Amino acid sequence: MISLQTIGAVKSKFKKKADPFEMKKHESKIIIKEEFKEGLYRIEESSHILIIFGFHLSEGYDLKHKNYFGELKGVFAARSPRRPSPLGTTVVSLIDRKDTVLTVQGLDALDETPVYDIKPHHPDFTAVNLSLPRLWINSLVKTDTIDELLSFAGILHGHYCPGLALGVKASVTAMKCIQELNNDGMENLTAITETNSCFADGIQIITGCTFGNNALVYRDIGKTALTLCRRGDKKGIRVCVRPDFFELLGKKYPEFVRLFDLVIKQRAGTNEDLAAFKTEGRKASFGVSAMSDDDLFRVSEVPAAFLPFAPITESLICPECAESFMASKAVGNGLCRSCAGEILPRLDGSGICCSEN
Ligand SMILES: [Zn+2]
Ligand SMILES: [Zn+2]
Repeated sequence: MISLQTIGAVKSKFKKKADPFEMKKHESKIIIKEEFKEGLYRIEESSHILIIFGFHLSEGYDLKHKNYFGELKGVFAARSPRRPSPLGTTVVSLIDRKDTVLTVQGLDALDETPVYDIKPHHPDFTAVNLSLPRLWINSLVKTDTIDELLSFAGILHGHYCPGLALGVKASVTAMKCIQELNNDGMENLTAITETNSCFADGIQIITGCTFGNNALVYRDIGKTALTLCRRGDKKGIRVCVRPDFFELLGKKYPEFVRLFDLVIKQRAGTNEDLAAFKTEGRKASFGVSAMSDDDLFRVSEVPAAFLPFAPITESLICPECAESFMASKAVGNGLCRSCAGEILPRLDGSGICCSEN
């Protein structure tokens, strides 16, 4: 028989039984006992941590139980708190550590829940089904598990920021509006992004519409807006970020806005400022992910616009550089565009530019 040590306790606004999905939208704190403080050394290097806690209000157990979605399941096939060993585990995002206080988002544990252990968490790619690689993302969209989607989006984007969170949330909203939760990257969906900022990365990873699978259109307008259409539908959905969003962000996360100005706009600040900017960015992005659609977006139905299927063209070999290229791109006497010295438009941070410089 092992004995468990209580290493700390949860501080949450939820004092009694509540909807776990609602609870996950809010920040909570884990207060670690002073005697275990050394054990937190370098914990802030983990963006996500696994919390092992006790269901302290739960008594007894059921071997079969109706789960959150009303499906009858065995206790070991479900997350019911009524279990022979009343232990819960949840992966949360670690927003901040101040001394012995951890601020986390995504914890579905009530106030005063005893915490027994904490471990670093790394995304588990065994969750990816090889025959349906987007199944996992789609199931997270279905259950509004925004934090996990946002965590995953960070892999593509490289950092967490409110723009990425908006892209993730706008995608979830649009996908649910058009009831398209089975995108398999086979050109059934078209996403139109009106910006190529952080927002666009949230769109690509969550909707699965990318340049590579001929499902992403870039319109060089500079609005934080996404339109999503399903092939054959008459209407699509446009989700546009509200004009007062940045004002709202400044009110809720003034430190993030200050550091954004310093680190990104002025390209100044120390390494500590950069580290603080990333921490504040993570805090603000998971904060945005918990906001309601009404506070963030204007959602409207629009006439559908979807891409034609990708043209299949034959290849040519350029006589100058001997590289193979799409025949549809040939110029003059069969040269590739770079050997022909054409000025090629390109997409960069400024949008579509007509010059290469
Ligand atoms: Zn970003
Ligand atoms: Zn060439």
